[in-house]
Amino acid sequence: MLKLSGTSAAKGVAVGQAQLLCHDDLTISEDTIEKADVDNHIFLFEKAVSKLDDDLALTRRLSRLDSFPESEDIIETQQIILHDPELNDQVRNLIKGHHTAERAIWEAFQIYIDLLEQTRNETMFQRLTDIREVRDRLIRILLRQNEDFQFQKGAILVADEITPSEVIHAVRNKVKGLVCNTGGLTSHSAILAHAMELPMLIGVKKATTQIAKGDWIALNADSGEVIFRPEESVLKEYAEFEQEIARKKEELMSVIDEPNELKCGHRISLQANIEFQEELPGYATYKPQGVGLLRTESLILSTENALDVDCQIDFYRTILSSTGDDEITIRLFDIGGDKLNAYEKKEANPFLGWRGVRVLLDKKDLLRDQLRALLTVSGEYPGRIRILVPMISWVEEMIEIREEVELMKQILKKEKTVVDEYIQVGAMVEVPSMVVQADKFANYSDFFSVGTNDLTQYTLAVDRGNTLISHLYQQIHPAVFRAVAYAVRAANSRQMSISVCGEAASNPMAAMAFVGLGIHNLSMTPNEIPTVKSKLRSVTYQECKSFASQLLNASTMNDVREIIARFE
Ligand code: PEP
Ligand code: MG
Repeated sequence: MLKLSGTSAAKGVAVGQAQLLCHDDLTISEDTIEKADVDNHIFLFEKAVSKLDDDLALTRRLSRLDSFPESEDIIETQQIILHDPELNDQVRNLIKGHHTAERAIWEAFQIYIDLLEQTRNETMFQRLTDIREVRDRLIRILLRQNEDFQFQKGAILVADEITPSEVIHAVRNKVKGLVCNTGGLTSHSAILAHAMELPMLIGVKKATTQIAKGDWIALNADSGEVIFRPEESVLKEYAEFEQEIARKKEELMSVIDEPNELKCGHRISLQANIEFQEELPGYATYKPQGVGLLRTESLILSTENALDVDCQIDFYRTILSSTGDDEITIRLFDIGGDKLNAYEKKEANPFLGWRGVRVLLDKKDLLRDQLRALLTVSGEYPGRIRILVPMISWVEEMIEIREEVELMKQILKKEKTVVDEYIQVGAMVEVPSMVVQADKFANYSDFFSVGTNDLTQYTLAVDRGNTLISHLYQQIHPAVFRAVAYAVRAANSRQMSISVCGEAASNPMAAMAFVGLGIHNLSMTPNEIPTVKSKLRSVTYQECKSFASQLLNASTMNDVREIIARFE
């Protein structure tokens, strides 16, 4: 039995057998396969080719968005290599000779590489890097695919790091939990696991080297503990934990039909953060009052024709038609940062780089297609859609986005498409420059939405995904709350709506402080609504104000902890 600890990224308790996901492991076994397995290995090889083809196509689409057209040529070359009929036949023949798919790829590519090396032709020589890259990516997909496409029901995945699409894949396959060597609390994968109620521990150092496939694991993502190869008594204890958690959850659910107000009757509004259609059942269960943040990046990440207007329209319609008459705040693509791992453009500081509105204003086709889709659907559901702009740091960006919205309205009207004339356009408050100039941004915004995930990272200068400094990433930090208070003042002075849609909104104590600062609209992972709502229903507005004012005046995190303890 071995006990390790980590940081809880999504709460819950789970017991299951380990399934390992190692991104960088290129160890190819010398084992041979039986005749009966030949067809399956050929099938796995073909599936890997098709997966890599999809990945390359996505990267190619995205490379069209950036300023490096040469990367498109490289991808094209790699696609040609991937589909080389001779090379593919060679792989199939080696599999028929009882090689595993990965070993067959390795050897077939090696024959090809040896031949090219002998030609001493400079152009051919240059293709070697691409050939090796295709080979390695193919093998990596295959090594993962054996696990990946058969994510086992009831398993606990142990990975160095997990990607957002793997989280979705894990949920679809009814995986019970995730344990990662690295990762950040507000990394996109962690946010998704939280939203999908999949227990997840991050920062469990060397987890992947301590566990073998099939070993039993007891995961307690509430306490931040994971036990590998637990004794029988621990397994029993965990089964009881699981029941206890389910019971508490049921108890909490009784608050769902109660009014959204504080103990003193002060009204609040609790909304949902949504990204995937898969989250819509949660919307029905937790009864939020609208979607405060609809992230749209998944359209680019997971859909074949992501940039296609019709495809976007379908997605927005699905969300609008499944959410009654509620208001839906749709955020424009916030690509960049940690959100596009398939996109291979390297930046030294991606979070300070080409992200959010910066990409949108550089790539007007992308922006205009999204606005066309949003405005088209806005006409079908008048008064229900608001547009939110991510990563705003310059007033000019907001001005330009508004001009683009007006332009697209005119174009659509000329085409006789009905649009919501009064559609609101708001700004994310997540960058310090936006906070200190909030009064100026208010001149060009219909509403503000505070993104505490990024506001924390940029205010405290702490990368939200970096395990080394995760202890410094504290959303309930006086500096972050002072920044929020500043934005609230600017919004209030114009009677403009301001809400919080960062992960902090789902922390009951942080939620209480936001209300105390004068924010009455909080948007969060739907499954956190019962916890936040019960807390808020148990306190008065006066208590919230007093709590917030003490937080704003705290000096150290020790002070913060003491203040929290007094109001908990
Ligand atoms: C935020 O930054 O708080 C936010 C809601 O956006 P994201 O987590 O998608 O960056
Ligand atoms: Mg953000």
